[in-house]
Amino acid sequence: MFSKILIANRGEIALRIIRACRELGVQTAVVYSTADKDAAYLKLADQAICIGDAPPAASYLNIPRIISAAEIADVQAIHPGYGFLAENAHFAEICRSCKIEFIGPPVKAMAAVGDKVECKKLAKKAKVPTVPGSEGAVDDERVALRIAEEIGYPVIIKAAAGGGGRGMRVAHNDVSLRAGFKQAQAEAENAFKNSTVYIEKYVEFGRHVEVQVLADAHGNALHLWERDCSMQRRHQKLVEESPSPALTQATREKLCESAVRLVKTAGYTNAGTVEYLVDKDQNFYILEVNARIQVEHPVTEQVTGMDLIKEQIRIASGEALPYKQKDIPQIGHAIECRINAEDPSRNFAPSPGLIEEFRPPGGPGVRLDSHAYAGYRIPPNYDSMIGKLIVHRKNRQDAIATMKRALGEFYISPTRTTIPLHLQIMDNEYFRSGDVDTGFVERVLLGK
Ligand code: ADP
Repeated sequence: MFSKILIANRGEIALRIIRACRELGVQTAVVYSTADKDAAYLKLADQAICIGDAPPAASYLNIPRIISAAEIADVQAIHPGYGFLAENAHFAEICRSCKIEFIGPPVKAMAAVGDKVECKKLAKKAKVPTVPGSEGAVDDERVALRIAEEIGYPVIIKAAAGGGGRGMRVAHNDVSLRAGFKQAQAEAENAFKNSTVYIEKYVEFGRHVEVQVLADAHGNALHLWERDCSMQRRHQKLVEESPSPALTQATREKLCESAVRLVKTAGYTNAGTVEYLVDKDQNFYILEVNARIQVEHPVTEQVTGMDLIKEQIRIASGEALPYKQKDIPQIGHAIECRINAEDPSRNFAPSPGLIEEFRPPGGPGVRLDSHAYAGYRIPPNYDSMIGKLIVHRKNRQDAIATMKRALGEFYISPTRTTIPLHLQIMDNEYFRSGDVDTGFVERVLLGK
């Protein structure tokens, strides 16, 4: 096991990793930007190192500064969290070439799954169903039109290097495909410095279901069941739960086994998530692989009783997974609501600044992963998520009741948050019956 690691991230995930390390007896050094200098979680780390100014390029995305911090702190490994450099294969390679372990997959596997076009090729090799569409990158509008003709509208144009719901365009006919194609390329170039796009069938009324996997460097790979993340706004997740209310047990097993097949084929190790779309007839198609810990990992921790961050650190330090697939339970039902500092009544306008009052919920079945507190100032420079409220109960109905109760207790002022939207979701009859899809929130709740 490592004796000290560097946390190259901020906010709730930095705190989450500090917590895991303290339980493991591993020392921590955490980096921070000047915008985060007063954050209380810094005091829980053994060491905190300022790496630059607020803009991510000057700090959390600045590889030379992070490597320097790791060298000064004399750590053996770096945990990248999610976002920032977490899926940057170049960063992983630099860490390892400096003899600092990157807590994540091998560079080759990371690069292969990180490119969605390459990932689809891997999926075909592993016999994991893919959404019908282009065989690879599409760089010509005429080819795009021909493929759309073959697979039928609607289609979706996606960026090979995409992430965070960006660089996607749905087209319902030739005219919107022509317009969307150029826009998607430009957007992809802008956001990811890579204009490569591809085309696939747009699965209408599909659900987003993903499988958590763990794999070690000794050839063991397991799944930790699924999470359903169909409640989304602008392709960004709002609510996640496990198990998925939509899957039959037979589909669940087939889906989870396919995820394990994929990571084995990719030579992937550490924690990862294989994301799928599931249609009304229980057909599933792979979307992508996220080569990192995900925001929504706590719902899996609740139903399996495992600590995913500790597992990541153990795997990176060379330990073998001590479990067999049959040892991984899926007990009860867990739901997570992402609490963002955004105003749902003003088109989700960010609400940064000082939190004056912060009264967190508690009681049976409630977990809150948050770095926020009364007196915390939310910097305007980063993601607006200020916490994740997670509940775990013996069944879905009870979990919804506990979530409603906990959301009702949660008081944050004067910051505007997504709590009112989550309360609306928990009361919605379609959500309560489990009958939703990825377009539900915008189509039904927000009336878009
Ligand atoms: P990102 O990497 O930007 O998160 P994903 O490929 O994971 O992109 O897709 C994010 C979301 O976009 C999915 O959860 C789903 O809602 C929607 N989406 C992506 N591809 C399709 C598709 N072929 N059909 C329908 N919806 C899709």
